[in-house]
Amino acid sequence: MMRRSHGYGFVWLFLTTLCALLCDAQMKPAKSPADLIVTGGIVVAMDGARTIYHDGAVVVKGDTIVAVGPRSEIEAKHAASDTIDARGKLILPGLINGHTHVPMTLFRGLHDDVTLDDWLRKYIFPAEARNVNEDFVRWGTRLALAEQVRSGVTTFADMYYYEDAVAQETKAAGMRAVLGETWIDFPAPDNKSEAARAAYTEQFLKKWSGDPLIHAAVAPHSIYTCSAKTLNDAAALTRKYHAPLLIHVAEMKKELDDSLKQNRLTPVEYLDKLGILGPDVVAAHCIFVDDKDRQILAQRQVGCVHNPSSNMMLASGVSPVREMRAAGVAVGLGTDGPAGSNNDLDLMEEMDLVAKLAKITEMNPLALNAKAAVEMATIDGARAMHMDKDIGSLEPGKKADLIVIALDRPNAVPMYDVYAQVAYALKASDVDTVVIGGRPLMRDHKLLTVDEAAAVAKAREYQKTITDSLGLQ
Ligand SMILES: [Zn+2]
Repeated sequence: MMRRSHGYGFVWLFLTTLCALLCDAQMKPAKSPADLIVTGGIVVAMDGARTIYHDGAVVVKGDTIVAVGPRSEIEAKHAASDTIDARGKLILPGLINGHTHVPMTLFRGLHDDVTLDDWLRKYIFPAEARNVNEDFVRWGTRLALAEQVRSGVTTFADMYYYEDAVAQETKAAGMRAVLGETWIDFPAPDNKSEAARAAYTEQFLKKWSGDPLIHAAVAPHSIYTCSAKTLNDAAALTRKYHAPLLIHVAEMKKELDDSLKQNRLTPVEYLDKLGILGPDVVAAHCIFVDDKDRQILAQRQVGCVHNPSSNMMLASGVSPVREMRAAGVAVGLGTDGPAGSNNDLDLMEEMDLVAKLAKITEMNPLALNAKAAVEMATIDGARAMHMDKDIGSLEPGKKADLIVIALDRPNAVPMYDVYAQVAYALKASDVDTVVIGGRPLMRDHKLLTVDEAAAVAKAREYQKTITDSLGLQ
């Protein structure tokens, strides 16, 4: 009897414990494992609803965002092997620099305060002919990668030569980019003939096809440096490989006047007549675009990239951003430059300038607001690059490209409106952490994937070489 009762007691204890365990497990499901949680900050998601989580978190698995939401909900459901504590800070999608020429960092400040036509033909084209080789491109790119990560840029679009070397450096640093090999109607530093250029570019497109970070592209320079044949050949190659096409469009008055005289068409109409414009084209500048041009750009789903610093520095004119947005054109933001037309790669600064330039141009403080500026640097930049399925906002399923901005410096407080703070008050130096494809490239202001000191030292060396090559003092 004693033994039987003891036996029942044991079974009873076993069953109640099992039930308790099961019930507990049901109430507290196991946390789903992730690789990184960025938590406790103000999440500015830039999703369709423009959601802001005041105490939020972003969960990353591999290179992808798996959850975004209030911190308490996120922390209850997810556990990660790495955590970035963003308390008291902003968490934003990584910024998108939609137009630049990164190896030109080594020409920064070489000859400023001249017209674009003079700058190109008298200074830059000769300086390029004497100095640009693969080593130049690699070091210029490294310097630019460091500078861009420091200003919160996670994706950039580039147009230059030896673009495969730019791609290798960019991939090694873990940055995302659309990299266009430049086509121009004179012997370029890398490819001296049309045939060599076509072969190099085709190989470049094949090599990077399907890469998660590098999007190889073709970049016919402009209608004023490329014949119709060059433009058509570039577009044909682009379409054969489903690659993007990067081009300068309507960037100076002379380009418009010459096109009207030679083609009886505006630059946009001319490109459309050639069949170049389509949903794979990223058009830099778009300054001289009238109402009809804007309709064509919208209809063809061309992405445009506005470069406020460059427009001002070269006195090129001002891209009609408000009208383009109203016409349904996706307009992103770029630094251009970094030589002769800016001279830096600071997209935080461009957000500040884009709104102010629109305001002074229209003599109307309502012309473009801070929220629009942040949109242009993030989700609209992604749309302009035709990459909004992957980047531009913090949403599950998108690539984990995000930045953390500190709010503890005098210029960062108080903060009544997040968008106004980002556009008008915060600086590149406030960006403290940058994650691209789930991988931290900068943490607490420390760059993790680029040898910044070496790039800075090499830039100083190049300064002397370039000065000597041009016979300057
Ligand atoms: Zn440019």
